[in-house]
Amino acid sequence: MNDVLPPPWGPLVETYGSPLYVYRLDEVRSAHADLAAALPADARVLYSLKANPHPAVVAELARRGCGAEVSSRSELLTALDAGMDPGAVLYTGPGRSAAEAETAMRAGARLFSVDSAAQYGVLRRAAARTGTEAEVLLRVNPMRATWGSGLTMTGVPSQFGIDEEELLARPERYAQAEGCPVVGLHFYLGSNITSADALARQFGDSLEAATRVCGRLGIQPRLLDLGGGFPRAYARSDEVLDLGSIGPAVQKRLAECFPDPAHRPRLLFESGRHLVGAAGSLIARVLDVKESKGRTFAVLDSGINHLGGMSGLGRLPRIETEFVCDPPRQEGEEAVPVDVVGPLCTPLDFWARGRSARLRAGDLVVVPNVGAYGLTASLLAFLGRDCPVEVVLDGDTVAGASRLVYERRPLSSAP
Ligand SMILES: *Cc1c(COP(=O)(O)O)cnc(C)c1O
Repeated sequence: MNDVLPPPWGPLVETYGSPLYVYRLDEVRSAHADLAAALPADARVLYSLKANPHPAVVAELARRGCGAEVSSRSELLTALDAGMDPGAVLYTGPGRSAAEAETAMRAGARLFSVDSAAQYGVLRRAAARTGTEAEVLLRVNPMRATWGSGLTMTGVPSQFGIDEEELLARPERYAQAEGCPVVGLHFYLGSNITSADALARQFGDSLEAATRVCGRLGIQPRLLDLGGGFPRAYARSDEVLDLGSIGPAVQKRLAECFPDPAHRPRLLFESGRHLVGAAGSLIARVLDVKESKGRTFAVLDSGINHLGGMSGLGRLPRIETEFVCDPPRQEGEEAVPVDVVGPLCTPLDFWARGRSARLRAGDLVVVPNVGAYGLTASLLAFLGRDCPVEVVLDGDTVAGASRLVYERRPLSSAP
């Protein structure tokens, strides 16, 4: 634990107040460069906006040549506004109404991932109605789960993807090309996979599944989205995993599975947390330190409404906040176990239990590595407190500051 609140936090809090999110674009650039260097040279990385849809973050990745993986109209518009190439924006998700599909096509979406035969029908009809030349990646739930996944989403019963068995048994359901051809497959097997070997093995398994499925469908895939799962620590200090071995291993399997170089699909990969996790920090202030029946509680001005809302629901690992205190503590001042809680009126509002810390009212604490699944993955509207200001830093320069605001708008008629 560091005892000094390093720059730029202090001056930023003085200007913008607390709590405060800070995103550093140079960290986004270096994470993207690392990931691109670890993957085959002509592969394309899609940024999953779910991790952090802040427009400045998305625009920075667009400038780096990233595409986008989006799953709502709002994410789609953010990606296109940020300058993403519409041909490199993949619209994903297991449930799309006819209206959503048509809206997406009218807004410029061209590439869709499809999770069922019925959803393929929805998309074909939307393409016909809007006169759109859309393209489809069939999302595959492979026969076998690859072990070692952090959060396994496929190879097991799932709402995501079409079972490989179904694709092999009934290929005719997916062969209706008109206006909406299948140009490839989409895999996404899990999130936060913390071994480069497991990642490479997962991509290799997906390539093999792709040869089986594409052979049966009778298509030469132009695009294969192998998904991601690239890891990054969440709300604690990072040990960066060396991804360097993945590219050559994937390249080799690709050449084995698709031996004809003239018909080798272009590979896509997806990442949210790895690209932006390290770029974000949340700064909060300790409002009160109190004792209750032998325990110490530090009450902050930020809680699960700003960070870890899904953690409050048991969805994400508990936050292991690294506390950086201001001002520095005196020698000999004892660290004690502290329950670090937020200001919300629910006992679910806590970030950490029994963390060893020396906190006083007025301290600022910094939570590192919350650039992904921070603000928008939290319970923003719960108890109606303001969102923190989000500051974007480019080097030492403030590139922008804004606050997300939600509001209720009366409707004069049905929407
Ligand atoms: C959530 C998601 C991602 C991003 O996952 P990260 O762990 O943030 O990299 C990528 N693709 C799909 C389909 C997702 O649902």
